[in-house]
Amino acid sequence: MAVIYDSWHRQINYLRISITDHCNLNCVYCSDRSFTHLPRTEVLTYEEIHRIINITAAMGINKVRLTGGEPLLRPDVTKLIRMIANTPGIDDIAATTNGTLLFKMAAELKAAGLHRVNVSLDTLKTDRFEEITRHNKLEEVIAGIAKANRIGLVPVKINMVVMRGKNDDEVIEFARKTITDGWNVRYIEDMPFGCSANEAGKMVSAHEIQERIKILGPLEPWGTKKGNGPAKYFRFPGATGTVGFISPITEHFCNTCNRLRITADGHLRPCLLDDDEIDLKKAMRNGANDDALRALLQQAVVSKRERHHLNEGERAPEKPMRQIGG
Ligand code: SAM
Repeated sequence: MAVIYDSWHRQINYLRISITDHCNLNCVYCSDRSFTHLPRTEVLTYEEIHRIINITAAMGINKVRLTGGEPLLRPDVTKLIRMIANTPGIDDIAATTNGTLLFKMAAELKAAGLHRVNVSLDTLKTDRFEEITRHNKLEEVIAGIAKANRIGLVPVKINMVVMRGKNDDEVIEFARKTITDGWNVRYIEDMPFGCSANEAGKMVSAHEIQERIKILGPLEPWGTKKGNGPAKYFRFPGATGTVGFISPITEHFCNTCNRLRITADGHLRPCLLDDDEIDLKKAMRNGANDDALRALLQQAVVSKRERHHLNEGERAPEKPMRQIGG
């Protein structure tokens, strides 16, 4: 199988694709109320996405994640999943979702070839859920998580963005879920995107969260480090679930970065936190052949920078998270 490395000797084997900028939630840290959607014609078609995946699979990508916006909102998403599942070389297909549609869709997603889901959930309180997401759908999400586990879209990982004064008082409750319900919880440091960028000081460090949840017991490092995932995992004694910490701000993990991103408007984004992009969609729509597209993909890999510099005053990205996909 082909293998591709960037200029910093990191193997790149993971492609994240934002397949829509539409979302049925409107989280305060992710999206302004004034968000303007892309015209439909500016979003990649399934055939275009499949073409890119075919080319990248031959270059050494074996893992694909669908994100958004809310990826499960895209009409006929199971068709896309089937197309990806039938692509030689792709052996891991995941989605990052807000979970609201999982109860309804988990079975068809699994049947189409989706392997697992990450579910974003920042609170277990109904009114707070509405404050954070501007919608009243907590029950759907909780039911969706249970269903995804039953159907086998596993491991289901619960991603919680921790914000001081908004939901940080719930980090222990989330940790308790790893013991009582076998949840795999990952705490994410709030990144200064869009609306989040205006609220400096809101981020709670992974270290602080770890110290706070120790009240439930000692944390044992957990798992063989499979792949180059950004989280550090632990387990409470006797728990069936895990806690993970993702610390893009206080302890960046750029040295393990293994990914390329494609934004909802069809741009290749070598680094989440850098607005430098390559317009793949334009090239495709101007008739570029596979060799030309491969050259653009190689250029994106080679141009991946060593690390982000948010802690040294680098500006937060301008493109909304909803288009990039996280
Ligand atoms: N709608 C899907 C969902 O809710 O998971 C996928 C898209 S969402 C943009 C992808 C991930 O980005 C979510 O886990 C979300 O919590 C995360 N995210 C968005 N804004 C963020 C921020 N400012 N800091 C950290 N994570 C963020």
